[in-house]
Amino acid sequence: MLNFKTTTIVFIILLLILIILNCFISVSFIFYVLIIALYVLLLSYGSYFINSNFYIRTICSKKNNNKEIAITFDDGPVKEITPLILDVLKEFNIKAAFFCIGNRIINNESILKQIDEEGHIIGNHSYSHSCYFDFFSSKKMTEELIKTEDIIYQTIGKKVRFFRPPYGVTNPALKKAVNKMKYTVIGWSLRSLDTKGKDHRKILSRVKKRLKPGDIILFHDINPEIINVLREFIEYALSNNYKIVRFDKLINNVSD
Ligand SMILES: [Zn+2]
Repeated sequence: MLNFKTTTIVFIILLLILIILNCFISVSFIFYVLIIALYVLLLSYGSYFINSNFYIRTICSKKNNNKEIAITFDDGPVKEITPLILDVLKEFNIKAAFFCIGNRIINNESILKQIDEEGHIIGNHSYSHSCYFDFFSSKKMTEELIKTEDIIYQTIGKKVRFFRPPYGVTNPALKKAVNKMKYTVIGWSLRSLDTKGKDHRKILSRVKKRLKPGDIILFHDINPEIINVLREFIEYALSNNYKIVRFDKLINNVSD
């Protein structure tokens, strides 16, 4: 399996071979450039594709034949949207997961409590969700994770077990932080692309077309379009005999 460690070892071996070879025959610098470019390309691929498991073991779906799927929401809680999502989930008696941003929980503690009381699971999605998060040191990342974990614990009295990286980007610094926190990292297998300003028909058509058993679906509770998408998606999934379960049940990692 392609991962950071094996890729780096192979890269170093290839470079050493070139250097040794260069003692006997003249090796064009193009070969060095090609190997370095390939290495950088693989590292970037590993960073940006969360399901590559390149840096961190990440659970993105569950292989099953039971037509079970799980719904997850990122980037909330948001006062104007998250409660409406909770209403839809309640109406269909569906349990989901909310990967929350620490600084959005502040002043929205009652929403976090409601998420928990209604049986959904809450995960850590960093404190700031900064667009520079991937450039933070491992220490700074850990501080963000602790800060969010503390806010969640103070609000609902439960310790967070799951983490989803902001933007789904992973790297060695994040691996260190996640290991320190003993988190299980959760990705997704079906991305709704619901934050890109598309209307609800387009978002819905994408998820309906790509839905398959074992999927962990990524929505965001920041776009008002999600309310209509969610209702119609649930109706579609149920009418096609899918069972929507909480993701910790889907992946058999339940503690309560
Ligand atoms: Zn996010």
